[in-house]
Amino acid sequence: MTQCLTPFEVGQQDIEIINRYARKKLKPEEIYTFSVILCDNDIDRDCEAFTKESLVKLADIFQGVTGIFDHEISSKNQIARIYKATVIPSNEKTLYGDVKYKLKAFAYMPKNDSTKNIISRIDSGILKEVSVSCRIQNKICSICGKIYDGTCGHNLGKKYDGKYCYIKLENPIDAFEWSFVAVPAQRCAGVVKNFVQNSANNEINRQNKMGFYYQNRLKSQVVKLGFLNNFMQDNDATFKNLINKLNIDELEAFKDEFEKKLDRKNLIPYLAQPYCNEKNENSDFII
Ligand SMILES: [Zn+2]
Repeated sequence: MTQCLTPFEVGQQDIEIINRYARKKLKPEEIYTFSVILCDNDIDRDCEAFTKESLVKLADIFQGVTGIFDHEISSKNQIARIYKATVIPSNEKTLYGDVKYKLKAFAYMPKNDSTKNIISRIDSGILKEVSVSCRIQNKICSICGKIYDGTCGHNLGKKYDGKYCYIKLENPIDAFEWSFVAVPAQRCAGVVKNFVQNSANNEINRQNKMGFYYQNRLKSQVVKLGFLNNFMQDNDATFKNLINKLNIDELEAFKDEFEKKLDRKNLIPYLAQPYCNEKNENSDFII
């Protein structure tokens, strides 16, 4: 698991930047500082990737944005603030073969009773992830460069002349918040992406989303049925990866086949929980 939250001792230069945001002049001993990887330009589970230019713009947008801790109601307020952010190259490559760039932010929070717990959890490495949410203007097909709305004929995840088809996320225009995540997610940082809707494409987008949610629900059902059929072990990553690549027809075929093998009455409790988080608005996708 990548360590995304890294504490560091604040220097004089940083304290000056931080004090531009603070109401009263803060001293180094009054604040806790850490760096955090917010996101990168690699392909996520929605087959979407920020471009490097988007990361640079996000670095700008995220400056001054406050973070919350969403699992502690008592401290559900603004507890940390990003005071600078930058895009850094890494030694890794993206799935599509380019240098992986990361959006690294630097944040501070006051040392007090309400932040004491969080600080000790960051220091001990228990708390190491954040999720961010932002608004994106354009989704572009990586193969033909058109706005991706499902009509250009290119299939996400498929290779065309050796080039991987995915959605490029261009022109982020807003950053809402970022929050500490208590439960470790699969990836380093989760991103909730909210897209600006083009009214001409609304109907297509709506249908795409319905398909997306239906497909995710099918994935969930097939994974659980696979488990119940002893086809996989709990948390079998290979099986889940395979299921992730299937289209709706293939998933339905798998589901039918698995269901035939089981007494349907026993299935119901296991199928209650969908694969994707349905509490999200239609336009939100969670990694
Ligand atoms: Zn295309």
